[in-house]
Amino acid sequence: MITLSEVKAKSSKRLEGLNKVVKAATEQLIERSFAAGVPILIAQGYRSIAEQDALYAQGRTKPGSIVTNARGGYSNHNFGLAVDFALLLPDGKNVSWTVNNDWMTVVGIAKQLGFAWGGDWTSFKDYPHFEMLFGLTTVQLRAGQRPTAAQEAAAMARIKPSDNVNEKEDDKLELSKYQRETLVKALQGMLDRKVISDKAWVDKAEKGTLTASELLWLNTILIANK
Ligand SMILES: [Zn+2]
Repeated sequence: MITLSEVKAKSSKRLEGLNKVVKAATEQLIERSFAAGVPILIAQGYRSIAEQDALYAQGRTKPGSIVTNARGGYSNHNFGLAVDFALLLPDGKNVSWTVNNDWMTVVGIAKQLGFAWGGDWTSFKDYPHFEMLFGLTTVQLRAGQRPTAAQEAAAMARIKPSDNVNEKEDDKLELSKYQRETLVKALQGMLDRKVISDKAWVDKAEKGTLTASELLWLNTILIANK
């Protein structure tokens, strides 16, 4: 069984050059998909104009089948705002491009994170493709426009729901010392088994600042990993 850190390592190179929010969202996508029992590989991320032109040539002036309708500068990959994924098979080496239930689980998680899915496109369905344009169009991006700090902050807020529910006072957990210690032990165990990757959860439980929504979220991850 492949671990989360192995899964993440396989895609880390492909996250280079991405917009920082898209990168954070993609990292969350990898983690949440893994937690839901569906390890994925990020097969494509940022592409330079030259790389895009080479891809466009495939199936046209070069051998192979057509994989894109976008010339260099016309793909949202060229702006670091898109990623393509594939399902990582249990052997941890091979990938699958079959659009099945697992595939749709990943699509659901991606949409929650604020990604648009290429499978929803009407003209050219691009099933492995996710993109986050921050309300901009490809035409605007081509003209040099980039997401503002406010647009990025709004998108970032969707990526880390646990940080948001933090601010809700009514949500705070009232735990006895024993309950808190049990919770800390349980979370430490999840961390050790790499079910969760952020030590902040354990620290929060220790400090007694974990909220009910966060506990529910952790429980979901735990159930998904059983
Ligand atoms: Zn793509």
